Amino acid sequence: MIRQIFPSKIMIQTTSFCNSDCIMCPYGETSKILTQGKMEWKLFKKIILECKKNNVERILLYLMNEPLMDKEIVKKINYAKRKNPKAIVHIVSNGNLLNEKLSKKIIKSKLDYIEFSVHGINKASYEETMKKLKFNKTIQNIEKFISMAQKYKKKKDYVHIKTLNIKNKTKNKQKIIEFWKEKGINNINYFEAPISRAGNIGWLKVKTKEEVKGCNSIWRDEMIHILFNGNIILCCMDWKRENILGNIRNKSIKDIWNDKKYMKTEQIILGKLKSPKNFICKKCEESS
Ligand code: SF4
Ligand code: SF4
Repeated sequence: MIRQIFPSKIMIQTTSFCNSDCIMCPYGETSKILTQGKMEWKLFKKIILECKKNNVERILLYLMNEPLMDKEIVKKINYAKRKNPKAIVHIVSNGNLLNEKLSKKIIKSKLDYIEFSVHGINKASYEETMKKLKFNKTIQNIEKFISMAQKYKKKKDYVHIKTLNIKNKTKNKQKIIEFWKEKGINNINYFEAPISRAGNIGWLKVKTKEEVKGCNSIWRDEMIHILFNGNIILCCMDWKRENILGNIRNKSIKDIWNDKKYMKTEQIILGKLKSPKNFICKKCEESS
């Protein structure tokens, strides 16, 4: 596929915070050592307006975070969609911070769909995986959200579920699928094993590759990833911000996307240029 002059998909971290500390997520560790914050409106608007100018197809208002930690997330969803009516605007959330008022606001917003990450269908497996969150509260929140979405006649696949059967406490995959189907969910992304997020999870050992020959990740050369402070990182595996490719405070997305530094990094990912010793892709399950 020929790389376009502007990314067709964009991930925006409107806040870097999360209320959980999932065992298969680098957040617990990286949030202690890296600066955290919330994106300013001025910066957010700048991004969205550049998306509009370039007919972006997909806007994901989350990146390494819990989007509902941003009190203005609904306002940002509506702004993004108003300016980019043809783009798909969506979020991924753990659902723990939902309440009736917020659920209603989200359902009545211009959001195209929401995916809930729920890694466990019982108290034990869930709370051992999604540390800090309570199973009963979260499930109730999500159940209420689903019935409210039905009441407001949202389309059938408005709610998606992402689930990682990490603790294998519920051995039967079918049991997990049925759990969600009974609640009216058809779009279920089921995963059996966690990935190391390019070596960013201490307890998950990775075998470092000698060479990098390409990336199998979906949307690799179509998507750009912007942190709360405007920094552009390599991809959603780059939790430690090892590869900052520019900052949109002082440049446009287009300039950074087509900049020498970005292009050179792309060549390294493809294995067309020699990679530095500790290059992130060498530790990543997605690299070929
Ligand atoms: S997986 Fe999601 S919910 Fe869990 S700690 Fe990471 S960002 Fe938060
Ligand atoms: S192979 Fe490299 S570019 Fe691809 S997902 Fe992994 S770290 Fe990111």
